[in-house]
Amino acid sequence: MIIKPRTRGFICTTAHPQGCAQQVQQQINYVKEHAPIAKGPRKTLVIGASAGYGLASRIVAAFGAGSSTVGVYRQGERAGGRPASAGWYNSAAFEKAAQAAGLQSYSVTGDAFSDETKQKTIELIRKELGQVDLVIYSVASARRTNPRTGETANSVLKPIGKPYTNKTVNFHDGVVSPITIEPATEDEIRETVEVMGGDDWQLWIDALRAGGVLADDATTISYSYIGSQITQAIYREGSIGRAKDHLEATARQLNEQLGATGGRAYVTVSKALVTQSSSAIPVVPLYISALYKVMKEKGIHEGCIEQTYRLFAERLYAEQGTPVDAEGRIRIDDWELRDDVQTEVAHIWNELTTDNIYQLTDLEGYRREFFQLFGFETDGVDYEADVDPNVDIPNVL
Ligand code: NAD
Repeated sequence: MIIKPRTRGFICTTAHPQGCAQQVQQQINYVKEHAPIAKGPRKTLVIGASAGYGLASRIVAAFGAGSSTVGVYRQGERAGGRPASAGWYNSAAFEKAAQAAGLQSYSVTGDAFSDETKQKTIELIRKELGQVDLVIYSVASARRTNPRTGETANSVLKPIGKPYTNKTVNFHDGVVSPITIEPATEDEIRETVEVMGGDDWQLWIDALRAGGVLADDATTISYSYIGSQITQAIYREGSIGRAKDHLEATARQLNEQLGATGGRAYVTVSKALVTQSSSAIPVVPLYISALYKVMKEKGIHEGCIEQTYRLFAERLYAEQGTPVDAEGRIRIDDWELRDDVQTEVAHIWNELTTDNIYQLTDLEGYRREFFQLFGFETDGVDYEADVDPNVDIPNVL
C-alpha cells in the first residue's frame, strides 16, 4: 500500500508506519544521548501513552531511567481499507524498541475512561510488575462516557462569559482570518470539566490503590497549560481552563491522599506544542507558529521529548527535590513564558497577516510537525514505496 496523508481540517485520517517508527526512534535517540536519569522511576504506567506528552513520557521513563512500562491508549488497529492510527504505529515502534533493549513493556488498548480498561490494566500490573511507582495521566479527549452515570459528556473549546475575537490560521494554506467564538453555556463548561478535569485521574488512582498495585511512595502527574496573554480567553480563562483548574485541584487532593504513605501527586504546567489535541484549538496553532519562531531563534525551542526529558531530569527526579510554584505545580513552561519571549511573540502577533505569515512565524515548521505526528514528511522515508500497513504490537491486551 502506498500511504499518503489525507486531511480534513486539523485531522489526518491516514498514518505512515515507517514514518511513525522513525519519529519514535528519533525520540528514543534523544533520550539515550542524555540519559541516565538518576533515581528515576522503575515501573511506570502511562495512561494516554500513544502520542504527544504521554508517548514522550513513556520513552523518557523507559530509555532515560530503564523503567518497565505499561501504556494505555485508544484502540487504533487497521480497519477497512485504511492504515492503522498513528498512535498504533507509534506504540508498535515503542514496544519493539523497548523489548530489543531488554526493557519490559506492555500495552492495554481500550477506553481509559471505562472500568473495564482500569481492571484489565490492574490485572496486568499485578501479574507482570507487581506494583507501579509512577503513574502518568495524559489523556486528551473530546468526549467521555462516565462509567458511574453512563452519560457521555463532550468537551468544547470556547471562551466564558463573552464572545472572543482574535486571529486564527488555516495552517494548510497560511490564510490568516479573524475568528469569533461564542461563549460556552454552563452545561458545556460542566461537560468540559467532566471530560478534561481530574475526575478520571482520581478514579484511576483509587482503582490502582484498591487493587494493591500502586507503590506506597508512588508519584503521579498530569499535564496542564497556562500559556500567554494572547490565548488566555480561549484557553486558561475558557472552558478548557476550567477543566485544568479542576485537574490542578485534583492534584492537590491526590497529593494529600498519597502523601500519607510517602507518595506525591503533581500537575505539571507544560509548554505549547504541536500535537493532535492542540491543533484542534482555535487561535493556538497560530500562536504556536509565532512562539516556535521566537524560541528557535533564541535557541530554546523544545518539542515533546525535550520538554519531557527536562521535566524528569530537572524537576520530577531532580537530586535536590522537586521545585514547585506557589500553587504546588511543577513549571516546565518557564522558557515559553519568559518576558523576552512573550514580548516578541506579542509584537509578531500585532503585525501578523496572510501576507507576512511565512516571514514572521514558523508556520512551515508547524505544518511539517503536524504531518510528522502522522508519520509523514519525515527524513529518510520513501513515501512512494509500497509499505505493509499491517503492524502487530507485541504484548498488547
Ligand atoms: P495527544 O492528542 O497527543 O495525546 C492524547 C493521548 O490520549 C493519546 O495517547 C490518545 O490515545 C489518548 N486517549 C485519548 N482518549 C482516550 C481514551 N478514551 N482512552 C484511552 N486513551 C485515550 O495530546 P497531548 O497534547 O499530548 O495532551 C496530553 C495532555 O497534555 C493533555 O492533558 C493536554 O491538555 C496537556 N498539554 C498539552 C499541551 C500541548 O500544547 N499539546 C500543553 C500543555 C499541556
